[in-house]
Amino acid sequence: MAHAVTPPATSPPSTGAAGGAAVARRLEGAPFATEIRERVAADSAAYAQEHGHPPGLAVVVCGRSAPSMVYLERILKACAQVGIDASFVDVPGETPADQERELAAAILRLNDDPKVNGIIVQMPLPEGVRLRTVVDTIDPLKDIDGIHPLNAGLLRAGYEGFIPATAHAALEMVHRSGVELKGADAVVIGRSPVVGMPLAFMLTKENATVTVCHSKTRDLPAKVRMADVLVVAAGHPRLVTGDMLKPGAVVVDVGINVVDGKIVGDVDFESAEQVASAITPVPGGVGPLTSALLLSHLMRAAQRQMDAEPHRHMGRDLPNDQTEAAAARQDSRR
Ligand code: NAD
Repeated sequence: MAHAVTPPATSPPSTGAAGGAAVARRLEGAPFATEIRERVAADSAAYAQEHGHPPGLAVVVCGRSAPSMVYLERILKACAQVGIDASFVDVPGETPADQERELAAAILRLNDDPKVNGIIVQMPLPEGVRLRTVVDTIDPLKDIDGIHPLNAGLLRAGYEGFIPATAHAALEMVHRSGVELKGADAVVIGRSPVVGMPLAFMLTKENATVTVCHSKTRDLPAKVRMADVLVVAAGHPRLVTGDMLKPGAVVVDVGINVVDGKIVGDVDFESAEQVASAITPVPGGVGPLTSALLLSHLMRAAQRQMDAEPHRHMGRDLPNDQTEAAAARQDSRR
């Protein structure tokens, strides 16, 4: 049986093509993103007043490509709108070895710059440049997109670190659908460290029973059919179609694919919206929320850096209230 869904502030359900049954509610990212940006703008103004300079974000770019530049320009614009000082840091180098050296040096400089509160490194890195270079150098307190193993480990252990913004946005969409997660069957398609796995941990933490599917999963349709909540992050257009869904499921589509020059997700929206109770569109769903949440992570980083200043040490960067809150949550999960 599908779980009860309370009505959140989203587009109203429309009627089916034949004027019959209601189709799924669309969970648009833009209204939620606006709310988040408004909060970030207020926090960033307060920060600037207190510190005499705005909070700072550094975007490290190692090899430019047209699509990544569009995304990066968008981040710069979003930062300007909420009073965050964002800058690109270009990494030079002719060979991957040069680029790795320059990348490490750039990140170390940014770690030491008190006006930089958060660092993101544009992915994917150029061929031959190892992610390990970033992981080995980035300060976990400035790692606002949650790629450092300390942040991944904090999430796994039930503490508050930084989680990847995309996984955070997908979870936020699940919350905004109003679905009750406690006891729900959640299926996550994709097991990457930036989307699938963090989501699986977060959904488990919220008392859903989680199945993680991946490229070697047998009989994907049978797994999908169990899902009260389905999150798809595989990077395969039309991987999930309406006939695979449990009626009333909440569907969050993280995928971004280009088909015939158009951006589409991993879910066949037209057939899925006839069966689901709520569904995110692509484009316009998880994407806008991801960039807004990244800005909110930056503000949290600024706050945590101040809290951690007297004892900046990797294992001790959590304010006590956060550890206690995590312990309380742990108790409620037993
Ligand atoms: P990835 O390539 O690192 O991981 C894809 C995962 O999907 C893998 O775990 C793989 O096992 C699984 N998979 C692939 N084919 C499958 C299949 N046929 N059946 C079941 N599982 C399959 O990708 P990623 O970085 O996790 O990104 C996933 C998707 O999300 C991509 O389309 C990416 O463009 C998109 N994305 C969106 C945002 C956003 O803001 N909306 C941000 C990042 C990534």
